[in-house]
Amino acid sequence: MTVRVRFAPSPTGMFHVGGARSALQNWIYAKQQGGVFVLRIEDTDAARNKPEWTEGILSALDWIGISRGSYEGPYFQSANAGEHRAAAARLYDSGRAYYCDCTREDVQARTGSQYQGYDGYHRDRGLGPGPGHALRFRTPDEGATVVVDLIRGEPTFENKLIEDFVIARGDGSPVFLLANVVDDMTMGITHVIRAEEHLPNTPKQQLLWEALGVKPPIWAHVPVVVNEKRQKLSKRRDKVALEAYRDEGYLAGAMRNYLMLLGWAPSGDREIVPWSVIEDEFRLDEVNLSSAFFDEKKLRAFNGEYIRALPVAEFIDACQPWLTGTGTIAPPPWQPEEFDADAFAAVAPLAQTRIAVLSEIVPNVDFLFLASPLIDEAAWTKTMKDGSAELLDDAVAAFEALESWDAESLKSTLEAVGAERGLKLGKTQAPVRVAVTGRTVGLPLFESLEVLGRERTLTRIRAARLRLV
Ligand code: GLU
Repeated sequence: MTVRVRFAPSPTGMFHVGGARSALQNWIYAKQQGGVFVLRIEDTDAARNKPEWTEGILSALDWIGISRGSYEGPYFQSANAGEHRAAAARLYDSGRAYYCDCTREDVQARTGSQYQGYDGYHRDRGLGPGPGHALRFRTPDEGATVVVDLIRGEPTFENKLIEDFVIARGDGSPVFLLANVVDDMTMGITHVIRAEEHLPNTPKQQLLWEALGVKPPIWAHVPVVVNEKRQKLSKRRDKVALEAYRDEGYLAGAMRNYLMLLGWAPSGDREIVPWSVIEDEFRLDEVNLSSAFFDEKKLRAFNGEYIRALPVAEFIDACQPWLTGTGTIAPPPWQPEEFDADAFAAVAPLAQTRIAVLSEIVPNVDFLFLASPLIDEAAWTKTMKDGSAELLDDAVAAFEALESWDAESLKSTLEAVGAERGLKLGKTQAPVRVAVTGRTVGLPLFESLEVLGRERTLTRIRAARLRLV
């Protein structure tokens, strides 16, 4: 039997990191089993789906390493509507489903509770199809449905506790539960690996498989991803969109490594490992049963390590979207023609060790590409004290006289300027840094001045000096 897994997102919003994790788990499982990964876009909820979300899913998957053309699909659930209706009709014809025209209020009035499920009122009343008649599945009165789950063992559900659930609405349209099963069936899916939140659907879906005469798949329900308060990650509250992380400058390698660590760990005391190790070692049945904490701080730290591990040339390439504002990334504060690739290459190794996400490259190097630096006013006020004006005057004089404009000479020169005033280098360089870069923190100052050049450095220090009059 060839293993066939699927990832079946609904295109109703940005691509959730939890979805990316399920996709990767399916992807690896298929690879390990010599199987096939199928992508199915569950787009039947026309009111909530938008084509751009589908494109977002495809490009986010591509980014994370599940590249277009390397899987089967994408299939679109909406294209299968005929099959869904045919399955509903088969279930009705075989007596496994029946029509019902009860409203929720009718059921409540009979059962006396809004929490009670459907009471089976129409089971044997022989109501035929008609407008407003929903189709309900007749669940068995006895026995139990045992689900085989690679992560959870054999969760068992008493059939008498499963209500006769709706499989097609009053307008004849099949609901998610049925469409999802029929698609899995027609696509020959053997393993359904998905989020834990679907577990309550699983006994119902397994009953549908059985009623349609097909052996159910093996299931694996992966625990949910939660925030630091142990709440399920939510679109409204948490940063969940994979695209947002990508645009902020997380590396795909770091992201997918981190996602796979949610609820699982490679052998040894390792966390940052090559993808090939994860592909070898990951075991679905080792995934932890408790919910997994998505720790953005840890992800950031991971990303910093991945950035530092890049060859410099790759780091330079990886920064380009932020430097040139391509794609979905916000444009930098300078014009493209002001960007100087050589100047950037000269400071790139210094920046590489200091940033944790690629977008942070911009505030670190913007002083190089702007006619005058963006002054952070709070930094200015904090730094420019009594004596700063004179110190800047001395720095200008000393820098003008400098023979060789290199980091080492710049450093010893400024050190001497400070020493005359009894100041340590840190105190001496702070006003110079703010004058030249606009900020109190950034790349090593003297290397920065070397790259910026004498003329621009002096112009900026003089401009700052004038502000202090
Ligand atoms: N479309 C469903 C979702 O996005 C997927 C259900 C499943 O994986 O079976 O939650």
